[in-house]
Amino acid sequence: MVVKTDVLIIGGGPAGSYLARYLVRNGFNGDVMLIDKKSVIYAPIICGELLPSEDLLKPWINRDLYEVLLTTIRETLRREFIVNEIRWLRLVINDRDIAKMPFRTYVIDKAAMIRGIIEDAINWGARVRFGATAIRCAVKGDGYECLVHDRYGGEYVINAKALIGADAYPSIVDISLGMTRGFGAEDLIIATSARARGKYVDDEAVIVMDPGVAPGGFAWIFPRGDGTHNIGVGVRNNIAWRGGNPLNYHMLFVSKYGLEGIQKSVLMKTLPVGGLLNRYGIGNAYLIGDAVGSVIPTNGAGINPAMITAHLLGESLVHGGNYSVLIDRVFKPLMDRMVMFRRIGDPLLMSRDAMELALRVSRGYMASSIYEATLSSMRISTLIKFLIGNLLIRLISGLA
Ligand SMILES: Cc1cc2nc3c(=O)[nH]c(=O)nc-3n(C[C@H](O)[C@H](O)[C@H](O)COP(=O)(O)OP(=O)(O)OC[C@H]3O[C@@H](n4cnc5c(N)ncnc54)[C@H](O)[C@@H]3O)c2cc1C
Repeated sequence: MVVKTDVLIIGGGPAGSYLARYLVRNGFNGDVMLIDKKSVIYAPIICGELLPSEDLLKPWINRDLYEVLLTTIRETLRREFIVNEIRWLRLVINDRDIAKMPFRTYVIDKAAMIRGIIEDAINWGARVRFGATAIRCAVKGDGYECLVHDRYGGEYVINAKALIGADAYPSIVDISLGMTRGFGAEDLIIATSARARGKYVDDEAVIVMDPGVAPGGFAWIFPRGDGTHNIGVGVRNNIAWRGGNPLNYHMLFVSKYGLEGIQKSVLMKTLPVGGLLNRYGIGNAYLIGDAVGSVIPTNGAGINPAMITAHLLGESLVHGGNYSVLIDRVFKPLMDRMVMFRRIGDPLLMSRDAMELALRVSRGYMASSIYEATLSSMRISTLIKFLIGNLLIRLISGLA
């Protein structure tokens, strides 16, 4: 069987579902089809489900980017998707409570939010198929063809004029068309995700930076407001497998921080933290969301960034703009800055002793640098702070 469409979107996460919605909502001239390998819309969830409030990032990021961010939040985040409102960020470094800082964010029901976006897309005319896995894609004539397996063991081909990889990293579209150079292990995080109980305050998100627990990353506790929390550990990929199984880090975190798992299994996923890939598209094939590397390297946030890339692609498909030019102008400056910050911080994220020494040099400096990086600050003062920090870290890691 051969199915035809104008635009085929592979992946129905925040990126793919937002793009499908955007295209049908904004008068795109053509058929839009979205497929996802999951049988149930966006389940199971592998995510901390933390989103910034409308105002949190406004003072820290550039105005153009903020406008797109605000649009994506307003179009997708309905009141009923908010599970809990967070007010504070508690920063724990190497077992020590370092700081409590303002942090207006939401813990959301991400699956419900994605369902809402997909329902909108369907209502406005998109064709959506779940339980459909893209196996490989290729150039065919002046378009593309993808082989798809359905959940019942059948297979069929979809022909499309434009092809979108919204299937996270590494994208089947990227692999099939040889689009990008991909990421090295040092630019990938292996992240775990689970629900747990534990004595933590409802309106405080906890970030734990401890290279003994989460080398090259951090661990988190995001309260859901009902005594349960979304928890997880992000460990850099080039370290995660050294001990045999990255889940060991998760178990260590759970026992050290008095948490009690309430699910049978802990889920795991790869997250790119190396900034945007070297290409965002080729011909009429494009990458959005995790597939293009849109996760903020300093904090692992990827829901809004995925929708931001989808918005920029949607805008260029509807109005005939150039996706690469738009991304380079609106989003890349922030991503480049955050990769730089992450790389500067890497020696500390990898060594408990170096982290300890840095804390002794200046606890306040560390706390405010981490806070500003978490808010993805584009302020010149943050840049200067990181450049000075870089010198200090080099000195410290030389000593450690
Ligand atoms: C443990 C963990 C915690 C996180 N916590 C947060 C957080 O608190 N806040 C935040 O903002 N971000 C967080 N992130 C990041 C965020 O989840 C992602 O960046 C975001 O979901 C990316 O959206 P996406 O649409 O690009 O990809 P995804 O959400 O991964 O969606 C991709 C979709 O593609 C489908 N797919 C994959 N391959 C195929 C195929 N071959 N054929 C068909 N379909 C396919 C998948 O089933 C999936 O539904 C977290 C990530 C992890 C791993």
